Amino acid sequence: MLKKKQFIVILTILISGQINFSQTGTIKGYVYDSIERGPFVGANLSLEKLDKQSSVDFDGNFVIDSIPIGTYDLKLSYLGYRDTIIKSVRVYNDSVVTLNITYLPLPCMYRDKNDKTCPICNKSDKVIPIIYGLPSPELVKDAEKGKVWLGGCQISFCMPHWYCKRDKKEF
Ligand SMILES: [Zn+2]
Repeated sequence: MLKKKQFIVILTILISGQINFSQTGTIKGYVYDSIERGPFVGANLSLEKLDKQSSVDFDGNFVIDSIPIGTYDLKLSYLGYRDTIIKSVRVYNDSVVTLNITYLPLPCMYRDKNDKTCPICNKSDKVIPIIYGLPSPELVKDAEKGKVWLGGCQISFCMPHWYCKRDKKEF
């Protein structure tokens, strides 16, 4: 079963003024895909309050203009991913808010899986979880104690796997 992928966001905000006399502002930015190491092409950004939206283009950029001044929640979404809300983006009069957005997968929920019996030796005492993705600091500590095997990130198959130290076998 395909699990919904999750992502979190690292954000930097830059605000710059421009000379015009409207009562609106612009949100523009760049969305970086930290897995593919490039632009997150096709991601959708929307201001639900206003029914305004924009897609990330092939260069990773997006623009939403003519936004009445105010504070908005910006929704970042992409098919197959869980939506992320960038909260309280403030739009100033005659200004451009530039957002640099980086998304990262959340660590896998390996603790949810109970079936960690090795198919070779039929035991679980030497079995450790293989963690895919970017683990939390406490998982890294576990890894240092030899409890966790840090795997490479496979975001599409972010399912827990196990490693039997006795048989040196992944399953
Ligand atoms: Zn085994």
